[in-house]
Amino acid sequence: MTPEFLSGLADTLRDIDNAGLMKTERAILSPQGGHIDVNGREMLNLCANNYLGLADHPDLIEAARGALSDFGYGMASVRFICGTNSVHRDLERRLAAYLGKDDAILFAACFDANGGVFEPLLGPEDAIVSDALNHASIIDGIRLCKAKRYRYANSDMNALEDVLKKARAEGARHIMIATDGVFSMDGYLANLPEITALAEKHGALVMVDDCHATGFMGPEGRGMPHHFGVADQVDILTGTLGKALGGAIGGYIAAAQPVIDLLRQRARPYLFSNSLPPAIAVASVTAIDLAEAGNDLRAQLFDNAIYWRNGMESLGFELLPGEHPIIPVMLGDARLSQQMAARLYELGVYVAGFFYPVVPEGSARIRTQMNAALSRGDLDRALAAFGKAGRELGVIA
Ligand SMILES: *Cc1c(COP(=O)(O)O)cnc(C)c1O
Repeated sequence: MTPEFLSGLADTLRDIDNAGLMKTERAILSPQGGHIDVNGREMLNLCANNYLGLADHPDLIEAARGALSDFGYGMASVRFICGTNSVHRDLERRLAAYLGKDDAILFAACFDANGGVFEPLLGPEDAIVSDALNHASIIDGIRLCKAKRYRYANSDMNALEDVLKKARAEGARHIMIATDGVFSMDGYLANLPEITALAEKHGALVMVDDCHATGFMGPEGRGMPHHFGVADQVDILTGTLGKALGGAIGGYIAAAQPVIDLLRQRARPYLFSNSLPPAIAVASVTAIDLAEAGNDLRAQLFDNAIYWRNGMESLGFELLPGEHPIIPVMLGDARLSQQMAARLYELGVYVAGFFYPVVPEGSARIRTQMNAALSRGDLDRALAAFGKAGRELGVIA
């Protein structure tokens, strides 16, 4: 490596640090859960995507352990050479049935599913209409596709209709609307009833990334399309095995048979990347079983979310409104969000501050996330910590 190249990297790192944007990582010494061991300290975890608390569930560990014995550790192949084990098809069929689609196709992550979904399905004659707050992986997937790109302001349905008309006027053959099912920085739900109605009106397809919903939103946790009763109007669903469904790794696309069949031939992150470990595939089927039958877990999750919201509002914190277990605590100033997260860490509560460019400037926040593994006592302890830190830093009176 040349000295010029290395000093360029050092400059960039210094800029990141000077701007207060350096991300650091803390090592957890225990399984992921409501209570975690960080550097030998027991802490409450309010920032995992472990919505149903399944990340350390004994049934998943047992299922994975059994699969390790039955199917070994790794596949050492992409799917179409020799990486398709019976358990991969079992999981794809189980996902499709759970989500109400013909079939599903697995990826190493939802980042890859979103990276691979657009390019095989749409060409330069087509258009993608994308919400401005969509996840980075959707943005990258759209970049990799030759379709014309249109963007609309977050959840602005007038703007969506305007760009749909514009895409048509500019000659688009097929139009696909792409949206997150839940916008993860705010916990806001995408307006799928309106989006699907506009899609129908303008002859567009709808793609929804349901990472922050599958497993816990909607009846049996089937996600936002089912939550809003518009499942048949959503054409393509992408999602992750890395959040509510056990939290390990893996992504998928679920859709009509010809869509999945073509993706299996053409989606580059599928064709050119290794198959999921069999143990993950087997345990993910168990995770779907637990989620589907998990009304008690969802009840605990949403009870916790309401209790947490009410407790935080009583303390005087400003929250974004909503019903999702993502509950952002608005602080405004980036530095304040970091100070608050640092003080909460000292008080035994693990949360993360989010600030520009992850969220708009001046709207820094601590994004708290509820999960079913937290008890009332845990939440009371976390509320006491937030109250103390908030008063010390002058956020609340
Ligand atoms: C987490 C997330 C992803 C990425 O999922 P992975 O399986 O971790 O790659 C994609 N889209 C959205 C909306 C997400 O929240």
